[in-house]
Amino acid sequence: MGLLANKAGLVFGIANERSIAWHIARNAVAQGAACGFPYLPGEKMERRVRKTLEDGRIPDAWLHPCDVADDASLDDLFAAVARRFQRLDFVVHSVAYADREYLQPGRFVDTPRAAFAQALDISVYSLLAVARRARPLMSQGGSILTLSYYGAEKAAPGYNVMGVAKAALESSVRYLAVELGPAGIRVNSLSAGPCRTLSAMAVGGIDDILTKVEAAAPLRRNIETDEVGKAAVYLLSELSSGVTGETHHVDAGYHAIVT
Ligand code: NAD
Repeated sequence: MGLLANKAGLVFGIANERSIAWHIARNAVAQGAACGFPYLPGEKMERRVRKTLEDGRIPDAWLHPCDVADDASLDDLFAAVARRFQRLDFVVHSVAYADREYLQPGRFVDTPRAAFAQALDISVYSLLAVARRARPLMSQGGSILTLSYYGAEKAAPGYNVMGVAKAALESSVRYLAVELGPAGIRVNSLSAGPCRTLSAMAVGGIDDILTKVEAAAPLRRNIETDEVGKAAVYLLSELSSGVTGETHHVDAGYHAIVT
C-alpha cells in the first residue's frame, strides 16, 4: 500500500517533463494516488502534457483545461472534478507567471502596474481561488500544497516581481491554513531550490543562482527536481498530518546559510 493509496488529487502546472508538477505527480501516482491534471488551455499544451504523462507511464490520465486567471474556467474545472472524482484529498498548485521582460537583473523598478498585477493574480490569487473551490470537495479534510522559492525571503538577481509574488504566496499559505484548518484541510508550501524548468529559464539571473547554490549550499550541489516530488509526498500524505501553514525548504540547505 502506497502512502497516497485511495487518495484523489489534482496536480496543476505540468507543462513538460521538466516541470516540478510532473515530478510531484510521478511520485504521487507511484504512492497510489489517483490524479487529475488541469493544464493551461491550448491544443499544443494539451499534447505536451499528455505526452509527458504517457512517456512517464501514466496513460489515459484525466486532463482538463483551466486558466487559473479566469473564474469561469476554474468553475468549469471544479464542476468536472466533482463529477469525475466526487471528492478530493489533495491539490498541488504548481503555477506561476510573470512577464519575462521584467525578470531581468535591474528591471524590478520598471515593472508596470499591469505586469505586477498579472504576476500576483496568476501566481498568488489563484491559490485562494483554487482553495475556495476545493474546500467543498475536501469534506474528509485534505492537503493543499503550493511551490515557492527563496526569492520570497531575500532579493535574488532577476527574480524581481516573482519574489514579491512568492512572499505574498507564503503569507497566503498561513492565512489559508488558519481558515481551512478547522475543516481538517492543511495548507503548506515547498520552497524549492532552482531547477532548470521552462519558467526558471525566464529568470535572467538563473545561471548565476544555480552556480552560487552549487558552490555554497551545505550539500554543495543543486537539488534534483525529483527531490521536490519526494518531499511533496510527505506534505500530501498522513506523514505530515500535524503540519500546516509551513514553508518547507527543499534547497540543499541554501536558505540556512549566510551568503
Ligand atoms: P513550469 O514552467 O514547468 O510550470 C509552470 C506552470 O504554470 C506551467 O505548467 C504553466 O502552464 C502554468 N501556468 C502559467 N500560467 C497559468 C495560468 N494562467 N493558468 C494555468 N496554468 C498556468 O515551471 P516550474 O519551475 O515547474 O514552476 C512550477 C512552480 O514552481 C512555480 O510556482 C514556480 O515559481 C515554482 N518554483 C520553481 C523553481 C525553479 O527553479 N524551477 C524554484 C522554486 C519554485
